Amino acid sequence: MARTVLVTGGNRGIGLAIAQAFAKQGDRVAVTHRGSGAPEGLFGVQCDITDSEAVDAAFTAVENELGPVEVVVANAGITDDTLLLRMSEEQFERVIDTNLTGAFRVAKRASAKMLRAKWGRIIFISSVVGLYGGPGQVNYAASKAGLVGMARSITRELGGRNITANVVAPGFIETEMTAVLSDARKAEIIKAVPAARLASTDEVAAAVTFLASDSAAYISGAVLPVDGGLGMGH
Ligand code: NDP
Repeated sequence: MARTVLVTGGNRGIGLAIAQAFAKQGDRVAVTHRGSGAPEGLFGVQCDITDSEAVDAAFTAVENELGPVEVVVANAGITDDTLLLRMSEEQFERVIDTNLTGAFRVAKRASAKMLRAKWGRIIFISSVVGLYGGPGQVNYAASKAGLVGMARSITRELGGRNITANVVAPGFIETEMTAVLSDARKAEIIKAVPAARLASTDEVAAAVTFLASDSAAYISGAVLPVDGGLGMGH
């Protein structure tokens, strides 16, 4: 059955691969962007997820064009790495406001219509770093770990209404976010990953479409790693 899907930050990177995977299976797919426009075949809405009015307006635009959002993927995210002693409160708060509060704004706005429809799928894109930790990533790891508590609380609140909330935790994926890493750092990462490589964005998208499918109706509050074994046991 075709669903209406909204992917935040679906204009590029992992979000775009997720949006394209849903479109490929015949769903009606909208993506948020911050001015770049939407790639061919996807319905674009301009939205900064740090602004709740913009989030509300984006959902309204999608509802008018494609119908109520049945699957929402909170994917938009940023990093602003530096060591704890050097990290300013502003740097900490900016990452939390985008990655964690942004996901909250999106999930909250989506849940009202999902409750009415008595069906919904909420998927948060976290990171292996959320539970594993990362030097220089106190802000990012805290924001990504917070998504786990958020998904599990939503599961306890809305689980009885056919609404699931899950977390996908990618490891190191080939995107612009990882393109900035030095070759030495990349080699170090590859050494630590049992799969001995970075992943493609499509491998993350496959986990997301599975969690949104009818086959995954009994999976909620789960953290699904797509990390080649890097975070095992966390
Ligand atoms: P990119 O940096 O390639 O893309 C980030 C996306 O988020 C862009 O679409 C960007 O929009 C959007 N975005 C950022 N801030 C905001 C905001 N305030 N409002 C709306 N949109 C915003 O990232 P990736 O594709 O690599 O990452 C996607 C997600 O996956 C992130 O949450 C990231 O933390 C997570 N992740 C990535 C990993 C990796 O190895 N790449 C590993 C683990 C997790 P715009 O184009 O307008 O800038």
